Amino acid sequence: MFKKILIANRGEIALRIIRTCKEMGIKTVAVYSTADKESLHVRFADEAVCIGGPASKDSYLRIPNLISAAEITNADAIHPGYGFLAENAEFSKVCDEYKIKFIGASPEMINSMGDKATAKKTMKKAGVPTIPGSDGLVASVNEGKKIASKIGYPVILKATAGGGGKGMRIVKNDNEFQKAWDDARMESGASFGNDALYLEKFLIDPRHIEIQIIGDNRGRVCHLSERDCSIQRRHQKLVEESPSPAMNQKLREKMGAAAIAGAESIGYEGAGTVEFLVDKNRDFYFMEMNTRIQVEHPITEEVTDFDLIKEQIKVAAGIKISGNNYFPKMHAIECRINAEDPKKGFRPSPGKITNLHFPGGHGVRVDSHVYAGYTIPPNYDSMIAKLIVSAQTREEAVVRMKRALQEFVIEGIKTTIPFHIKLMDDKKFRAGDFTISFLDKFDFSSI
Ligand code: ADP
Repeated sequence: MFKKILIANRGEIALRIIRTCKEMGIKTVAVYSTADKESLHVRFADEAVCIGGPASKDSYLRIPNLISAAEITNADAIHPGYGFLAENAEFSKVCDEYKIKFIGASPEMINSMGDKATAKKTMKKAGVPTIPGSDGLVASVNEGKKIASKIGYPVILKATAGGGGKGMRIVKNDNEFQKAWDDARMESGASFGNDALYLEKFLIDPRHIEIQIIGDNRGRVCHLSERDCSIQRRHQKLVEESPSPAMNQKLREKMGAAAIAGAESIGYEGAGTVEFLVDKNRDFYFMEMNTRIQVEHPITEEVTDFDLIKEQIKVAAGIKISGNNYFPKMHAIECRINAEDPKKGFRPSPGKITNLHFPGGHGVRVDSHVYAGYTIPPNYDSMIAKLIVSAQTREEAVVRMKRALQEFVIEGIKTTIPFHIKLMDDKKFRAGDFTISFLDKFDFSSI
């Protein structure tokens, strides 16, 4: 087992990883930018190294600084968390060269799944259903229009390097094509340094359902069931739950088997997520695979009773998995608490938290790095906490979530809590009746 793990991340996920390491008797090294000096992950780790200035490109994205920090502290592994360098093939490769174990996917895996157009081809070959669309990248507007006329509008243009819902544009007809193409290219170029696009049929009102998998270095892959992440705003997840209200055991087994087949076809090792869209006929289509731990992993932990970070560390250390699949024993919901004003178009609201009280009680979990007196830097993601509840049934989980949200006090900044409270009261949400377009029709003005 590893003796010391450096965590190449910040915020709640850095803290989350430190917690598991402590329970496993593994020492931890935190890295931080000058803007994060007062962050909890810095205080709770055994050691901490400053790796640069506030901008991510000067700190959390600087591979040489991270490697130096690992070398001077004698860390034998690096956990990248999510975001930043978690799916960066170069980082995974450099760690390898320096004989530091990267707790994540190999450079080959990251390359094969990180490029979404290639990933789709790979999955198709493994027999996993994919959304009809371009066979790889689209070279020009004309080629795109030709494909669209074949598969029928609406279509969606997507960045092959995409993530976080960026670089995507829906196109309803030929006339809209050029503008959507230009916008998607510009946004993906600016966000990912790669403006290549692919195209697929835009499915009307599907659900976003993803399967958590884990593979070991013996080529064995198992799944830990699904998460429903259909509650999204601008293609970004706000609420996730497991199990999905739209799921039945037959579909779960079918989607689980498809996810495993896809992952096994590339010899996948580590924790990963295979994302699908599921239509009203319960037909499912592969969308993308994430080769890292996801933000929403705690709901899977709550329903299967596995510590996914621990499992990740174990398979990275060469310990084999049981080979069984795991099914939900509970119902869990996660609400992302962002420092944003839901009344003003979710405008970021960084600043100082003047007063703070976390909810508690049976079945309530808060994963967060903030505290009273903490100043949220404007440089990073606006997510400041994840509120996770679990209960025996979905109905109980929704009631518990509302109760916990009402107990949650954050003063000094605006947050998404009022939005979540309203959502928990929504009749359709309560009935489990929603798709990815649910929030398009949501009345945010009366929050
Ligand atoms: P990212 O990696 O940026 O999160 P995804 O490929 O996972 O991008 O897509 C994000 C979201 O965009 C999905 O959850 C879904 O809501 C929407 N989306 C993506 N592709 C399609 C499609 N073909 N049809 C309908 N919605 C889609």
